[in-house]
Amino acid sequence: MALFDKFRQIADAREALARLGEDPFRATIERILSPTEAIVNGRPMILAGTNNYLGLTLDTQCIEAAVRALREEGTGTTGSRMANGSYSGHVALEKDLADFFGRRWCVVFSTGYVANLGLLSALTGPGDVILIDADCHASIYDGCRMSGAEVIRFRHNDVGDLDKRLRRLGERRANALIIVEGIYSTLGDRAPLAEVAAVKQEHGACLLVDEAHSLGVLGERGRGLSEESDVESSVDFIVGTFSKSLGATGGFCVSDHPEAELIRYGSRPYIFTASPCPAVIASTRAALNRLRIEPELRVLLWNNARQLYRSLQEMGFRLGPEVSPIVAARFEQREEAIGLWNALLDQGVYVNMILPPAAPDGGSLLRCSATAAHTPDQIDRICKAFATARALT
Ligand code: PMP
Repeated sequence: MALFDKFRQIADAREALARLGEDPFRATIERILSPTEAIVNGRPMILAGTNNYLGLTLDTQCIEAAVRALREEGTGTTGSRMANGSYSGHVALEKDLADFFGRRWCVVFSTGYVANLGLLSALTGPGDVILIDADCHASIYDGCRMSGAEVIRFRHNDVGDLDKRLRRLGERRANALIIVEGIYSTLGDRAPLAEVAAVKQEHGACLLVDEAHSLGVLGERGRGLSEESDVESSVDFIVGTFSKSLGATGGFCVSDHPEAELIRYGSRPYIFTASPCPAVIASTRAALNRLRIEPELRVLLWNNARQLYRSLQEMGFRLGPEVSPIVAARFEQREEAIGLWNALLDQGVYVNMILPPAAPDGGSLLRCSATAAHTPDQIDRICKAFATARALT
């Protein structure tokens, strides 16, 4: 069928990849042994590429809350909140999140991806301008496209470039929305948020921070980079996901703007999709509570992150620019990354392989992540596996 002709290039690339070892798109997690271990394609693996930063996916309290909701409210809501109404859990979770962030308003979406689509398509439109960091996540790019606003990319983490582009907008700066991320998902670096917030204030623009990878990870209370950088009052919208530190699926946006509630009524990705299942809402509420009352989880996470980053750095791997739970080893040649990824699988370590064009600067990455649930011994085994894998390739 002619419609499939455009897939030929992708199919060829996939076949070439599979010839070099295991097909990364066919990795099946057959059995979960713990938040950090699983049987993958028949082999026991240490999971070193999840976003399970606080290790809460198998937390007893979260599971109990989900099971209770499943028994009492059923497997799904079977409709959107606009058409079918909200469950009390949706409303309660929105209140929990608004309270946690100290904001007036929150809306919950079905995923983090949908949160960016839902917010951006409702908030911005033709005539508005969105300035995004070049390394922003695909959901931000897709939300921008859906909005119909003019999109201007600025160089990654380059506040001078952002400032210059805002200045060029003249009067239109009042209709400009700046978007950055708390921790960038591929290299693990933070946005220079204090400087971004200062530029935003100077130009009178709006600022959105996607804290997908920084919720529960940064800040004294785990509120993310906006809290860590002490600029929460300059951040107009925070977007986040339940699929990382909260160990479930779903997304949200919080804001203090009095008009923010209107977003719900103009957001097609909110209106025209089924609302999150009761079990997901219940486990997310329990996980948010654990995140809130157990800052020790963040201490464990950062101890592991430091150990992983420093060990790989000492071994001479080229990493992202700063210590972070996301530790990405960078390679110029994709074959090098593919060979090492396969050798790591042979050593029982599963990491994420990111190949062009998904990685920044046209390179390839082996993206590892530390979690609060890894033991220091597991981090050590991950590092030893890197050393052995490199010696063998
Ligand atoms: N924003 C960022 C920065 C992300 O990294 C991701 C997921 N990797 C998302 C949004 C989407 O989140 P979800 O997987 O919950 O849809």
